[in-house]
Amino acid sequence: MKNIPEFFTSPLFRHSGYTAHIRTKDFAVLFTSLSNTTKSDQLFLEQDNIIQKQQAYNLNNKDKKTFTMYLVLCDQCNLQCSYCDVLGKKDHLKNQAYMTWDTAKIAINELVKRIKLDPELNAQIVFFGGEPLLNWSLLTRICEELEKTGFNNQIEKMLVTNGILLNPEKAVFLKKHNVYVVVSVDGQEEINDKVRCYHDGTGSFSDVSKGLKYLKDIMPNQYGISCTLGSHNALSLSEEIVYLHEEFKPCCIGINVFHFQQDGTCPIEIDDKTLCKSLLSSFETARKKGIAIYQFANILKSFTTQQRNKDYCPACVNKLLFSPNGRVGRCETLMTDERFSVSLQDFLTKPLPPKLDWSKYTPEHEPTCFNCIAQWICPGSCAYDQFISTGSLNGVEPRRCNFHIQFFIELLTLVLDAMLKTNYRKKVYVPLKKHFASVAGNIPTSFPEHTIFVTGMGSMSD
Ligand code: SF4
Ligand code: SF4
Repeated sequence: MKNIPEFFTSPLFRHSGYTAHIRTKDFAVLFTSLSNTTKSDQLFLEQDNIIQKQQAYNLNNKDKKTFTMYLVLCDQCNLQCSYCDVLGKKDHLKNQAYMTWDTAKIAINELVKRIKLDPELNAQIVFFGGEPLLNWSLLTRICEELEKTGFNNQIEKMLVTNGILLNPEKAVFLKKHNVYVVVSVDGQEEINDKVRCYHDGTGSFSDVSKGLKYLKDIMPNQYGISCTLGSHNALSLSEEIVYLHEEFKPCCIGINVFHFQQDGTCPIEIDDKTLCKSLLSSFETARKKGIAIYQFANILKSFTTQQRNKDYCPACVNKLLFSPNGRVGRCETLMTDERFSVSLQDFLTKPLPPKLDWSKYTPEHEPTCFNCIAQWICPGSCAYDQFISTGSLNGVEPRRCNFHIQFFIELLTLVLDAMLKTNYRKKVYVPLKKHFASVAGNIPTSFPEHTIFVTGMGSMSD
């Protein structure tokens, strides 16, 4: 049986003398200024009217049941970013597999089958690579085929690209077919080009920036940016996100923490302390400047509505991935590993085997999480990173835990900040809706209709 404490307490270092109390069963929060003389559980009993369900914090269809299908259109790439983990291999030139129409058709049939079984399903297709635009003819054929299914309007589509091959014609097509585009770029030119380069070592920024400008002109409000955090941009992350926000005007920026490669190393690795500092300082900047950062918005939704964050690793929720060489698995990082994938033939003829059941690797099943103060807002770990560091998909990952715990304490501190500003002096501080809402600062609480949050970016991963 789970041994779950009734409440957590945490001192707030920026307000010495104040302690936060969080009740485990319902995420009710109280602060005390004399915590050592009062029992928190008694306080909660006296204050039982404090639980206020907050107004919806709009992150589109996240409350519906979601099925995400990744189509890796090819495993070749026109860039050779130093930290690429998709295949666990650095030389994409050796990998020439392109997804065929036959494989794509099987995937489309699977998606349609699932929608028919659950008409409310939030169905998503993600075009992924390598660089998916290298297989443009298949991408266009899939979009056209989806229109014939009769379910096209309920299928969200997303393209994750390095942006190099974008041009006005492609942008017009993507806009017409409602494909939300996410372009990977890690900051200003000198930062991005330290790690995101062509095979000959030339930086990619100037070409990526052209692609982003086509999107800005042709499909405003229909694209986002994915920025990978690592040693190349950790010290200047706040500046990088301000630059990307102002220069390219994306709907949203995702800050993704580097994955380890299959040998457990990463060329842009940073220590946990630097990582946490960099993210917290970016949060402060985003709050001031009104920049939509996916990971922060997602956690803010959970915090301000006082509801559990279930934006877990999508592979552990409901994601299937089709690889270009005809394998079906859960995650792009392990798509070539036969321990974590099946052949198309097996997929079509047999039930999914236990090795593809990742549903138990979320915080709801993880004993370490039951006793963690951040469990309400935390989207958990990346199963792949966990596997690389421990050899098991189970468990938690210290660098993500460290950030989520620090971040939760920061959010509690901001709530108390807001209360203390009102000269509300008591021994027991009961936050109201407005105090919770204040932690978002200027970060948008809703997003344009086309914005799609597909991945477990809440896990700071994809
Ligand atoms: S969070 Fe990790 S394991 Fe989950 S889908 Fe993303 S990369 Fe894969
Ligand atoms: S911070 Fe770590 S231990 Fe806490 S809920 Fe998240 S994954 Fe679990």
